[in-house]
Amino acid sequence: MTMRVRVIGAGVAGLTAAYEFARAGCDVELVERREGPGLGCSYLAGGMISPWCEEEGAEPPVIEMGIESLRYWTEIVPVATTQGSLVFAPAHDRTELTRFERLTSERERIGAAAIAALGPYLAGRFDDALYFPREAHLDPRAATDALAERLGAMANVSLRYGVDAANAQGAVDWTVDCRGFDARDKLPQLRGVKGEMLVLYTREVTLSRPIRFIHPRHPVYIVPRGDGRFMIGATMIENEEEGRITARAMLELLGAAYAVHPAFAEAEIIETGAGVRPAFADNLPGLRIEGRIIYVNGLYRHGFLAAPALARRAAAIALEGASVEEAMHAHRGQRQEA
Ligand SMILES: Cc1cc2nc3c(=O)[nH]c(=O)nc-3n(C[C@H](O)[C@H](O)[C@H](O)COP(=O)(O)OP(=O)(O)OC[C@H]3O[C@@H](n4cnc5c(N)ncnc54)[C@H](O)[C@@H]3O)c2cc1C
Repeated sequence: MTMRVRVIGAGVAGLTAAYEFARAGCDVELVERREGPGLGCSYLAGGMISPWCEEEGAEPPVIEMGIESLRYWTEIVPVATTQGSLVFAPAHDRTELTRFERLTSERERIGAAAIAALGPYLAGRFDDALYFPREAHLDPRAATDALAERLGAMANVSLRYGVDAANAQGAVDWTVDCRGFDARDKLPQLRGVKGEMLVLYTREVTLSRPIRFIHPRHPVYIVPRGDGRFMIGATMIENEEEGRITARAMLELLGAAYAVHPAFAEAEIIETGAGVRPAFADNLPGLRIEGRIIYVNGLYRHGFLAAPALARRAAAIALEGASVEEAMHAHRGQRQEA
């Protein structure tokens, strides 16, 4: 008999989980209480698929899932662009670049001429940088829309927007709870880490790849979105306040953008936003099981980086009878193969 699965939440966790179960032949119902896909925390993400940069601060499981997901976003749901990424430090903080280099792999230290060759707009701006050629980036809104579109075209999937899970009806074999920070009623150990971002519009700068700018308080980055738009993110604040962006965040994000290129000073601010990243105590994305409910959560700063890999692990539990421990370790070794 066909397995029936209800996925709750159409953020990146829910959409990737629904797709994984649907691809495996299950009957999938996805319920999302908002009116469209990816409108929660996922709507605000930068979309850097940069597992090797993340070695600077994240634990090995995140890097392994990130390498797996890089393949997903470039081959299975190919919405990412592989142009690598660049890391810069302020001129007075070059030792920070050396520290970043020491903690990471799959990168080259490059000088002014190579920086200019990668982007004429960066010519003369920095004497050196780290270049991670294998990394990719995507537009999270385009990625969630693409997944929703694929799911919508599958006969075994029903997408139901504007429906709270509390009102979903009908028996299912498994429920996959992907409610992000809203799942703390069932996962009291979840905490929220506020992230603020903004989007600038300017035709005066052209960038082909994300730039990280080493900053004493936050990992600040600029992600090109095309059509003159640049996402600047993101603060990391241990509180659970959504929506409001502070003057301090705005100053810090704009300051970093301006340090990368002064032309950003003339850009138009076309969007600001603040979301709450769901995180477990160890900051690792994870799975929890309660009866026939699988919780996919704790994606923290790594939603797009980790969700496809986590979805595979969730499917292994329901379809192959794996334990959480087995599922989380089954894909070890991806890193060596990548
Ligand atoms: C500013 C910022 C920048 C970020 N940058 C990056 C980045 O560059 N790369 C990266 O990988 N990650 C990044 N992240 C992190 C990433 O956005 C999150 O890890 C990810 O979006 C979490 O996804 P999720 O699906 O778990 O949660 P969400 O996206 O919040 O989705 C949960 C969904 O569940 C729905 N829901 C809740 N309750 C119910 C209910 N009762 N019934 C039905 N539906 C329900 C919600 O409406 C929501 O749509 C960033 C986050 C922020 C805030």
